Amino acid sequence: MENILLLVHTEADGSLAKSALESLQTVQTLAGALGGSGFSVGIVGEKVQAAANQIAGCGAAKFLGVEGAEFAQSRYASDAAAAEAICTTAQATIIVAPATSRWNRVLAGVAQRLNGRVETHVTGLSTENCAVSVSRWYYRQRMEAVLARTQRPWFLLVDPGSQPACQGAEGTATVETVAVDLADSCKRTTVTGLRQPSADAQTIRPDADLLFVTGAGWTKKQADGQTHVPEAEKLIYNFLKHTRASLGSSKSLVDLGGEGQAVISFLTHLNQIGQTGSTPRHPKGLSTCCHGEEPHAVGWRFIKERRAISLDANCGWARGKADVLYVADAFAVMSKVNELVAAK
Ligand SMILES: Cc1cc2nc3c(=O)[nH]c(=O)nc-3n(C[C@H](O)[C@H](O)[C@H](O)COP(=O)(O)OP(=O)(O)OC[C@H]3O[C@@H](n4cnc5c(N)ncnc54)[C@H](O)[C@@H]3O)c2cc1C
Repeated sequence: MENILLLVHTEADGSLAKSALESLQTVQTLAGALGGSGFSVGIVGEKVQAAANQIAGCGAAKFLGVEGAEFAQSRYASDAAAAEAICTTAQATIIVAPATSRWNRVLAGVAQRLNGRVETHVTGLSTENCAVSVSRWYYRQRMEAVLARTQRPWFLLVDPGSQPACQGAEGTATVETVAVDLADSCKRTTVTGLRQPSADAQTIRPDADLLFVTGAGWTKKQADGQTHVPEAEKLIYNFLKHTRASLGSSKSLVDLGGEGQAVISFLTHLNQIGQTGSTPRHPKGLSTCCHGEEPHAVGWRFIKERRAISLDANCGWARGKADVLYVADAFAVMSKVNELVAAK
């Protein structure tokens, strides 16, 4: 019989992020499939009661919490100690956690301490005769593997966006506090503050409903024989500002910076989608000024509805890669779209 534990951390405001609720849904489904074997929830944060209340009615047998000012911020020593203490208290055999940067950094080490194993980039869990298997993708999302292990504890880091999120379960939870002695480990690292881009400069938004992709066409000579990069930058910026879409790019466009050409200032290689970029998960995608070549379009495999705007009626998108292709000038289309979304 498995002892299932959902391991989450709070956000800066004390709440649980969508990725935590996705892992919760995964745990609920798993516990149900294992014949109601039940599960516990472990929460780490400065204060955990609000987060526990957010999911009080989720069906967990118990809530374990590690809290205090030392656990407000991500730090290897304190996070690993907290996770280890919760897993030990819960006597967990399967630990499901959202693959946030905070847990990604720490849980492989915790698995090592507890003589367990860890799976990263989990995109699905299944059961057969009470044996649990996990799915994950390899070789840049080209091959899907199904894995099972007998070693316990088994840590499963679930990729954000790969599961539906648990909807509503608010109430009042009773949280059992788990004590963690940080005396030694905390002396080594002191968090002095956080440096992060301003909200507007943060263009990668995994939770956004729309992926907006920019291609090298935005920097090419247009019908008047001139390039219009500042105008392109303004159109893209305004669209993102109004819609809060996540910004993706083709490789050609992000590579231009290295060649000293005029580029869209807020794009970096982190925005690159494709074979040598990322493979995000958004319900919808809109590609603009991009040719839709295979090494790029392969990064769209988890985007459910795909649309593209390109001047070229024979581009890659036209060859079965997009659901809808608008053969049109993206400058004209996006300026009209911006007008409409601004009016909304
Ligand atoms: C090993 C390898 C790995 C690679 N990995 C990746 C990867 O991870 N991601 C990636 O993106 N690429 C990758 N590539 C490169 C990829 O093959 C393409 O070269 C690249 O995606 C092309 O970028 P693009 O479509 O933006 O530019 P282009 O091919 O230059 O296309 C620009 C498009 O913009 C259109 N356009 C121009 N002006 C307008 C306008 N006003 N309105 C509408 N449309 C307009 C043009 O018609 C054209 O179709 C890889 C290549 C290799 C060999």
